[in-house]
Amino acid sequence: MKFNPRLSPLKFIKSLSTYNRKLSTPIQINLPNGLKYFQPRGIFINNKFYETDETIDVENPSTESKITSIFTASNYDIDHAIESADLSFNKIWKNIEPLNKFKMLNKLADLIELNSEILASIESFNNGKTLNLSRDDVQLTINYFRSTAGYADKLNGRTIQSDSNNKYMNFTIKEPIGVCGQIIPWNFPLLMFAWKVAPAIITGNTTIIKPASSTPLSALFLGSLIVQSGIPEGVINILPGSGTKCGDYILNHPKIKKISFTGSTKIGKEVMIKSAQNNLKKITLELGGKSPNIVLDDCNLSETLTNLTNGIFKNSGQICSSGSRIYVQDTIYEKLLVDFKSHLENNVKVGDPFDESNYQGAITNRKQYETILSYIKIGKQTPGIKLLTGGDGNPYKKGYFIKPTVFYDVPQDCKLIKEEIFGPIVTISKFHSIDEVIKLANDSEYGLGAGIQTTNISKALKIAKELKSGTVWINTYNDFHEQVPFGGFKQSGFGKEMGEEALDSYTQIKAVRIRL
Ligand code: NAP
Ligand code: MG
Repeated sequence: MKFNPRLSPLKFIKSLSTYNRKLSTPIQINLPNGLKYFQPRGIFINNKFYETDETIDVENPSTESKITSIFTASNYDIDHAIESADLSFNKIWKNIEPLNKFKMLNKLADLIELNSEILASIESFNNGKTLNLSRDDVQLTINYFRSTAGYADKLNGRTIQSDSNNKYMNFTIKEPIGVCGQIIPWNFPLLMFAWKVAPAIITGNTTIIKPASSTPLSALFLGSLIVQSGIPEGVINILPGSGTKCGDYILNHPKIKKISFTGSTKIGKEVMIKSAQNNLKKITLELGGKSPNIVLDDCNLSETLTNLTNGIFKNSGQICSSGSRIYVQDTIYEKLLVDFKSHLENNVKVGDPFDESNYQGAITNRKQYETILSYIKIGKQTPGIKLLTGGDGNPYKKGYFIKPTVFYDVPQDCKLIKEEIFGPIVTISKFHSIDEVIKLANDSEYGLGAGIQTTNISKALKIAKELKSGTVWINTYNDFHEQVPFGGFKQSGFGKEMGEEALDSYTQIKAVRIRL
């Protein structure tokens, strides 16, 4: 498969307006596990890194020490990036042959694979998650780029036979939308980058992506791989900067035609309003959650303990679909409490993300750390609620570490059940009947994930049908696959990521009706 020289990116660069910024050179970083690599610090436009007027410090949450500072995008830079993305969209990318896109996305996946240990280490260094978990994130990132590449030549419309006597012919074409603005959070910096960028570009769009301020390093490192992948200039632009300045400017920009946002429901609502105000941008929102994990009395108890643990303590509870409300059937309630406590205290160690015996690393930033501690305080101060384990704050002098914390006998109207905490805190409550637990599970403004732990699949499927959530995990939890769509119901947002469905959010359908 040859790259078509007609599509040389050099052609449109000449028509770009002047951009007065100096190129930025990467700096060498020594990772805690002895690996060394070159970290780009500049904003990434047209496949180049640039210095700007402002920087922000990036911290290692396990030690609270500064890693480096990176440059952030001003409105001037965002305008230039959008102009580049717009030119690239119109002159190159929207009409590029599918197999060229296939080749480039696969090449990017190969490069990620080649650099997988470095990328995993960057992620653990900057986000605080354990190295094992970062490795899983990198693997899913690779799988997702490859899986998405496979759709390159399958983005076809359909023909519609509408009228009698062959009077008409109808067909549809799936077209890209244009320049996308993509805003991502800090809990899965690399994976969220992949979930946004891969479907956007395979469908022929170009993008401006803003990483979270606390975790920009892996995205910028990916920039250096994008340069080597053959993906033309202007297709993917990476612009770190604060949400309130850089994010807000992207939301209001008239040349952005589509916004994809992952983050809090509070900011998600702002995104929806702002995206509508200027030019009615298309949007997808992947927002918060407060997901139930239901344990029936016929479950396999030892597997259930693993699923409950993955549900809430994976990534230190900083997963939008975390199973943060556990409901246990009354007949096994007492036993589960005893077994879960001993399982957590014996198996779930917290500490240095690079120590592979740890299950939980650090909370990603100070703000989130303090938020979580404030909820632990609420749990301890609310009469009637009992602490099963954890709750005693940071076992270390430095770093944002929080032990797995479980409160039980928690009533449904408690703040700990109503509000998304986004940390390693879970509530356990008792239920008697299936009807009762369906009601409790659905009693939330959110609807992202849900879990059912049972050996009775027929019962599980009946419950699954009643749950108002975008994903239902049966006998597993927080178990993602690149082919399976993920996204919310209710105030957890709308639009899917991954799977074939993700592509729908990045295409618009043109219908052509012909009178014969
Ligand atoms: P957030 O404010 O929603 O931030 C998510 C992303 O949006 C970041 O890139 C952020 O940039 C950007 N942003 C913030 N304010 C913005 C604005 N006004 N306009 C445009 N973009 C904006 O989330 P957070 O403050 O980091 O975390 C708060 C809570 O959100 C958490 O406690 C958790 O409950 C929830 N959360 C959910 C998810 C999820 O996966 N659904 C992920 C993260 C957090 P900056 O980084 O510069 O602020
Ligand atoms: Mg915020």
